[in-house]
Amino acid sequence: AKKLGRNNFQFYTPAMNEESQERVRIEGALRNALERDELMLHYQPQVDLATGKIVGMEALVRWQHPELGMVPPTRFVGVAEETGLIVQIGAWVMRTAAAQNKAWQDAGLGRLRVAVNLSARQFGAADLIESIEQVLADTGLAPECLEIELTESLFMSDVTPAVELLHRMKALGVSLSIDDFGTGYSSLSYLSRFPIDVLKIDRSFVADITHDANDAAIVTSIIALAHNLKLSVIAEGVETREQLDYLRSHGCDEMQGYYFSRPLAADEFEQLLRQQRTL
Ligand code: C2E
Ligand code: CA
Ligand code: CA
Ligand code: CA
Repeated sequence: AKKLGRNNFQFYTPAMNEESQERVRIEGALRNALERDELMLHYQPQVDLATGKIVGMEALVRWQHPELGMVPPTRFVGVAEETGLIVQIGAWVMRTAAAQNKAWQDAGLGRLRVAVNLSARQFGAADLIESIEQVLADTGLAPECLEIELTESLFMSDVTPAVELLHRMKALGVSLSIDDFGTGYSSLSYLSRFPIDVLKIDRSFVADITHDANDAAIVTSIIALAHNLKLSVIAEGVETREQLDYLRSHGCDEMQGYYFSRPLAADEFEQLLRQQRTL
């Protein structure tokens, strides 16, 4: 293969042209999305596999643009990361999710935990700790009811500042989880040094759990690894009864996925809580 470097060249194709045009359009529109109130959160239930009860939810950002329609996060989160807009968007997500969770708690709907996704850009921002502290103070949400999802890519480069930052986050009392666990390239050694609470098994391992012996072996190993390190483990992307039964019989603590529910708008999620539907 050709070495990529200073002299690399790119093929210019109509498809790429379209793609880059779309990125430019998305970038421009995204700059106004927050102030025009076009962003909202959906919440996907997280269910305790032992009791069948909803114990938490992941907040997932949605963007309803007047012309572009509903833009999925897979199309705009990357752009937001490149432009740095993710720092503002992520701060809005954390504040909105925390306030919503507190409102549901105050309405007597249970002491749930809300998880938010933290991008690398936010992790690198100078005021990260202060902004989390501020959200907790302003909303009155108990810190243990806020979970922050990190990806392994955050730990790849220079690990020392990451360890310190994670300990400062942990000191606020929030819960920390590793998202998409098993898909990153970092070594497992960080697990013993970082104050992590939860491993989230990536849905690519869950998908074929009942048909592929290797995926099943990976999933049961992650569950054992988590429990040996006194961490809790949640499987994402659970779509079938068979996957659910497999995970439950192998001691996985929680599940999240279409089998129980898709991510829901806040009012729909609230209805679900009021029905107290269990697995
Ligand atoms: P993620 O953090 O891994 O979130 C889980 C994704 O899997 C969500 O996609 C969710 O809708 C989807 N999902 C849930 N259950 C199932 C299932 O049973 N089957 C399948 N096939 N998919 C399932 P979504 O909402 O489109 O988000 C995609 C990604 O965008 C997220 O992946 C996350 O990386 C990013 N994202 C979403 N919201 C935020 C945010 O507020 N901040 C940041 N930084 N990233 C976000
Ligand atoms: Ca996530
Ligand atoms: Ca994930
Ligand atoms: Ca993912």
